[in-house]
Amino acid sequence: NTSEPLLEVKGLQAWYAAAQALFDVSLQIRQGEVVALMGRNGAGKSTTMKTIMAMMSRRAGQVRFMGQDISAWPTHDIASSGLGFVPEDRRIFTALTVSENLLVGRQGARAWPDGTPAPYWTVEQLFELFPNLRDMQQRLGSQMSGGEQQMLTVARSLMGNPYLVLLDEPSEGVAPVIVEQMAHMILELKARGVSILLSEQNLHFAELVCDRAYVLEKGVIQYEGTMAELDANESVRRAYLSV
Ligand code: ATP
Repeated sequence: NTSEPLLEVKGLQAWYAAAQALFDVSLQIRQGEVVALMGRNGAGKSTTMKTIMAMMSRRAGQVRFMGQDISAWPTHDIASSGLGFVPEDRRIFTALTVSENLLVGRQGARAWPDGTPAPYWTVEQLFELFPNLRDMQQRLGSQMSGGEQQMLTVARSLMGNPYLVLLDEPSEGVAPVIVEQMAHMILELKARGVSILLSEQNLHFAELVCDRAYVLEKGVIQYEGTMAELDANESVRRAYLSV
């Protein structure tokens, strides 16, 4: 069924021990869309991604991906079905080199449901996307800056040839030159048909790369619209964003 969204999340709730962090999160992403998940610190952006990935032990709600209900799947099955996640805290292997980190993420080629080939990333293509990584192929993860580690985390997740990537605040706390490469990378993924859910606090960065936005506050989706609609809506921006 090609009219079904790639990812459909309905009524997500999640808890940290007894404290409820998500109350009602519903969103949809169609194939090829880049969608922003916006909101201030603590609004629940990271928790939404972790809940989609089944990384929250106490959670409720429905997650459908590529036409299947994945709500009860374990995290590794969700990841290997083609849903990539790049967490905020860069998860690279610090004792491995850049090249070794990439090879650890390698998964096989995928096809779309209609049988056409889905995006497939070679190490060479990833080095074209992130030229800095090519220059430091033999460097250990532990010897990279935070921004470089962030790029490597993204590149490693692309080695899994995902249909959709959840990107948690890739522009946060990294140098402007790396933010620029992140924006370029996101547009390149979009051009290849990869969908993205981008957690972001910075409206300017989201406007550069996103088609639409959902705005979260206190674990509830408070607003959804196109980037142009959000930009024009001063009361929503004032209420829920830091701009
Ligand atoms: P940030 O931009 O800071 O990552 P966010 O929008 O991603 O913000 P979350 O990290 O999802 O927000 O946090 C949502 C709520 O859950 C906040 O109230 C936060 O304090 C709480 N929370 C997050 N992580 C934990 C944790 N490990 N234990 C307990 N509470 C947590």
